[in-house]
Amino acid sequence: MQDLKEGQHSGFDYWFSWLTWPGLMLICISITAYGFSIDYPIMFFNVAYIFLIIALLFLERLMPHEQQWRLPDGQNFANIAHTLTSKGTVQGLLFFSTVIGLTEVITPVTEPGNGLWPRHWPMAVQAIIGLIVSEFALYWAHRLSHEWPWLWRFHAVHHSVTKLWIVNTGRFHFVDSLVSIVLGTGVLVLAGAPLEVVKWQASITAFIGMLTHCNVQMRFACLSWFFNTPGLHRWHHSLELAESDRNYGENLILWDHIFGTYLNPEHRPPTAIGINAFMPAKFRHQLIWPFLSEASKKKMEAAYLLASTAPCTFD
Ligand SMILES: [Zn+2]
Ligand SMILES: [Zn+2]
Repeated sequence: MQDLKEGQHSGFDYWFSWLTWPGLMLICISITAYGFSIDYPIMFFNVAYIFLIIALLFLERLMPHEQQWRLPDGQNFANIAHTLTSKGTVQGLLFFSTVIGLTEVITPVTEPGNGLWPRHWPMAVQAIIGLIVSEFALYWAHRLSHEWPWLWRFHAVHHSVTKLWIVNTGRFHFVDSLVSIVLGTGVLVLAGAPLEVVKWQASITAFIGMLTHCNVQMRFACLSWFFNTPGLHRWHHSLELAESDRNYGENLILWDHIFGTYLNPEHRPPTAIGINAFMPAKFRHQLIWPFLSEASKKKMEAAYLLASTAPCTFD
């Protein structure tokens, strides 16, 4: 399929590029909703998630947004390892919360009748409120990860990629993941939201996260006014700080409108993305990188530089 340029209206390709994002979201939400209706929400969420991965891998080949981003970057192992360690950390946190009795402290807040949460409202409305409330915490967690240097150390791992595609969706340093999950989910738990709302928020976050990083040619129009679409997120990965310090929303883009960080120019987002600083290529080095002193960082950077000029590879 040819690459669609702005203003080019070529039959099926053109219309398909409009339908891709809303169509995939609608299918994934419908599958998950069916799972909730028969009391198997997690199983059907997994079905939807696997469907989305397969569909996007296929579409990335069929209709890529950037041909250049299809070239290998040597980060597949690191991307997958970060995804697994981040998810493992969250699972570990849930287990630890139960072990130390934190859930017993939280449960009275979340029991029906307690807290401010409108539990008698339709679940679809509660899920939307859940997204808006959690998004406030996610927005600030993400924005502070860019503005506070000691949080940026961890978030830089996510931004150090030089191409966007679905395999780097989960590339987050585990500390970075921990901060956003604790704040994004914690605010819902403290507001007294039922578990079903938390599960819906987690499901939508997983679907939108996968879509925002995919390398598929899509069009969004007014969708980018409400949701964090791939079009908006590509600006967020720009090398230019004036562009990357924008579009902090994870699912909804509401708080970017309110706090003045929304960016959606008419022209195409940059192909060259990443950070203006060194990041080691190996997963284990990326894990320890945020904890290193400036002197140790310089030493590791020098070792990488030496290895890139030496005949054998650095290990
Ligand atoms: Zn970011
Ligand atoms: Zn990203």
